[in-house]
Amino acid sequence: MKTFNQILPLLVIPLTLIACSGDSGGGSDPVPQQEEDTGGTSGGTTTGGTTTGGTSGGTTGGTTGGSQPNFDVTLDSELTSAERISVNNSIDHLESMQIDGSKIAYFSEIFGGNSTSNVVTYLERRANYIISEFTDIFGTRVIYPPSITKNFQGTLAINPSVLIWYDDEYFAPEGVRFLTNGSARNVDSSRLGVIQIGEAFTSSDAIIQAITLVHEARHSDCPDGALLSDVIAWGFAGQFPQNKKCGQLHGECPDGNSCDVFAWGPYAIGYIYSLSIVNTCTSCTITERQQAQAAANMWQGAAYDINGSMNGVYGPPDMGNSNQVRDDL
Ligand SMILES: [Zn+2]
Repeated sequence: MKTFNQILPLLVIPLTLIACSGDSGGGSDPVPQQEEDTGGTSGGTTTGGTTTGGTSGGTTGGTTGGSQPNFDVTLDSELTSAERISVNNSIDHLESMQIDGSKIAYFSEIFGGNSTSNVVTYLERRANYIISEFTDIFGTRVIYPPSITKNFQGTLAINPSVLIWYDDEYFAPEGVRFLTNGSARNVDSSRLGVIQIGEAFTSSDAIIQAITLVHEARHSDCPDGALLSDVIAWGFAGQFPQNKKCGQLHGECPDGNSCDVFAWGPYAIGYIYSLSIVNTCTSCTITERQQAQAAANMWQGAAYDINGSMNGVYGPPDMGNSNQVRDDL
């Protein structure tokens, strides 16, 4: 039986921050409504055109700048209206924030460059599908029987891609397939890139959501490959993997919350991104930078020895990925 209570590729938010007044600048941004109307079903099924104002363009004049990067991610058709609006709004922010990573240590090593377009490229390699909180991924989307129970209390989002890939390896050579918007797709690696919205996502501010997506995307990475023992333990018994590097899985902090257990895990990546917003975002409101500061404060301690990491103790981050399974049995 696969239980999700212990599954840690998720990002939890304290209730205090959820309640954060959602005003900011983004509040007045009515874009997603339009996308919802036009995209509704047919358009939405492909790579759910995120922001770039569709046709009539009556809404956002602001985002139509030609050079603005476009985060191409598939929005699942089961997303609720609120989720779709929220996701589109956070993606708007992600695409339009003017940040300068050259002023932030290790930013360019993580994102492959210093600007928002590099963050978007980082995301596109790791986040391909955004799924509703209410979609039972393992019950209805991974095409094979078992159902699971889950507990998403206070969860911003979860990225189960590595576990879906473990199922794929467990059932090799046929493997499993992942179903979204009516298409069953092959699962070739943890870079499948499935991010499932948690119940705390829609009520959070766009900046928190953007940082959440950057954090979750890191969970798509398996830099050193997987262990056969983990694949079997997960596939056979739903046991959580021992090798935490694959999927950049968290462990437990002394206080019982989830933590990175090695350098440059998802909390560290989210922290660096938060810092770039706090210190360099010229397009953000003061409120948005404060929200990023709150996120940096909140998650800094969950990163593994962030001071050591920033000071080079662990070297640069390994942002690569492998789909090799090593036979350790
Ligand atoms: Zn996480």
